[in-house]
Amino acid sequence: MRRAIMAAVTSSLLDDALARYWGYTEFRPLQREAMEAILAGRDSLVVLPTGGGKSLCFQAPAVVRPGLAVVVSPLISLMKDQVDTLVGNGVPAALYNSSLTGAEKTRVAAGLREGRYRLLYVSPERLVGEGSDGFLTLLESCDVSFIAVDEAHCISQWGHDFRPEYRQLAQLRERLPGISLQAYTATATARVRRDIMAQLGLHDPVELVGGFDRPNLLYRVLPRASLKRQILDVVARHKGEAGIIYCISRREVEALAAWLTTEGTPALPYHAGLGEAERSGNQDAFLRERVDVIVATVAFGMGIDRSNVRFVVHAGSPRSIEHYQQESGRAGRDGLEAECLLIYSAADFMKWRVMLESNGELNDGNIALLRQMEQYAASVGCRHQYLAEYFGDRYTRDGCGACDFCLDELEPSPEPVLLARQILSCVARVGQRFGSTHVASVLRGHASDQVVSRGHNTLSTFGLLPEASVGEVRGYIQQLRAFDLLRTTDDMYAVLTLTPKGLALLKDETSCPDLSLARQRPPRKDATRARSRVDTESWEGVDRALFERLRAIRLETARERAVPPYVIFHDATLREMARLRPDSLDAFRAVKGVGARKADDLGERFLTAIREHAV
Ligand code: ADP
Ligand code: ZN
Repeated sequence: MRRAIMAAVTSSLLDDALARYWGYTEFRPLQREAMEAILAGRDSLVVLPTGGGKSLCFQAPAVVRPGLAVVVSPLISLMKDQVDTLVGNGVPAALYNSSLTGAEKTRVAAGLREGRYRLLYVSPERLVGEGSDGFLTLLESCDVSFIAVDEAHCISQWGHDFRPEYRQLAQLRERLPGISLQAYTATATARVRRDIMAQLGLHDPVELVGGFDRPNLLYRVLPRASLKRQILDVVARHKGEAGIIYCISRREVEALAAWLTTEGTPALPYHAGLGEAERSGNQDAFLRERVDVIVATVAFGMGIDRSNVRFVVHAGSPRSIEHYQQESGRAGRDGLEAECLLIYSAADFMKWRVMLESNGELNDGNIALLRQMEQYAASVGCRHQYLAEYFGDRYTRDGCGACDFCLDELEPSPEPVLLARQILSCVARVGQRFGSTHVASVLRGHASDQVVSRGHNTLSTFGLLPEASVGEVRGYIQQLRAFDLLRTTDDMYAVLTLTPKGLALLKDETSCPDLSLARQRPPRKDATRARSRVDTESWEGVDRALFERLRAIRLETARERAVPPYVIFHDATLREMARLRPDSLDAFRAVKGVGARKADDLGERFLTAIREHAV
């Protein structure tokens, strides 16, 4: 009975804190359960997708329960943003890491002794390993209530950002008895999840695993044709918005960033080969909205998390669906619509094989991952469903309203088996000695010098697909590869050959019953694209000009205070303001995402702009 009452009381404290400090009235899925686990003194493992609201899961309980919450976070730049946001919302918080000056460290240490903070952000190196002892002694005197381990997959070798120091975090319980441990991550296969629980030594943890689907992301896939044109199209769709463009190699990153800049879209490169100063400078320029587009290598980019990234383009395929999920997931963290475009070609998978080979990582596991990525790219069906099911979720929605397939941008071939057999027999007729460009020429009836000099213009397969474009035929070939009907040789000639399955289909047309092939529907005349459901809804009733005006004021405020703009307000909050057009401080306070502190601090400034903005 007493427990039930206590639970009800603390639960309503959470509601109050959420409204007062963050200006939110509802919990996202599993947030309340995650918070209650902490309040009950339990350990927990929380898996929520990017943008699912993991930070609040430990921040709100830290405000509500007595004692200090320690947050372990692997990235110094993100730590600073989180602390700035908390302080801006009126929550006493601090960070302690190698970026602090001696004087700052002294100040934070004094604050800790006085019990001034609700949350303390630290890097793992602070807590474990050499030189951490003094710091732990300080923490021993601080009444630490729990430790939240953010990006907990870093503890696992099976995850994508292994950090050895994470391995030692379990020892903290010896130094700080009575604390509970909370782990948070966005990516966790069952194997990584088990690893996190074991390595952190979680005691009977509350395990909360949310769905992986991100309904606000619009997924598109395009076979690479004219890459620059394809990239310019996306950038034009997102004028003035933030985007990340991923390339496979550093060289491509540099070239693309320079080229985009000359085309009138300022873009900065970001990869591990840059010097520390340039890299963090470019990252900072992106986070602070001095530049909107960043070009990065796929292997890199954990620090370039800005909450209002509206598009993520992969100019080449990543090496696994896990990587794709992680990288494309940097779009739309604020819950608003965002576009994730994968532009791929068979050459990408070849490049990865070469790279894995030279790193000694070309094993069956990685080959299978690569293959699955290729299958995703070439698949003809709902992308949300594909990704959700890949990660073990059931996807029950009928039509996501946010992928190229569901938006009817793909045109499934009415006779895929016939089409496949035409292409396969062409590959056979040219003696399995040519690549896709040549095969496409023959099929399209293009009497190039190459084709004529080999006499391939006299083949029965010459001109079988006269209407198809080169890109279209290459797209089909790619899809046939993914269905394991065709293969390309691993050398630089990328010669197309038939697989046993491909040979079987040539002999017996019923041998591949679930085959589906599709081409891109030609773009509409006005070159616009369909918008996703979330896109339409989130702009409903929003005065766009006012939204832009509010963005400008946010940027101005952010520059004055030397913080990134999203630390002031998220885009979602600005849109809400531009929708509701509050005309009093009370009305301003009622806007989702405006807490009490923010309303006092910034209300007048934003209200003035709203009033001055003519209807
Ligand atoms: P994650 O760490 O899971 O990627 P964040 O903690 O950064 O996600 O949250 C993503 C966004 O969602 C942030 O802008 C945050 O303010 C917002 N958010 C979190 N919880 C809620 C909620 N209950 N209601 C509205 N917005 C929320
Ligand atoms: Zn779909």
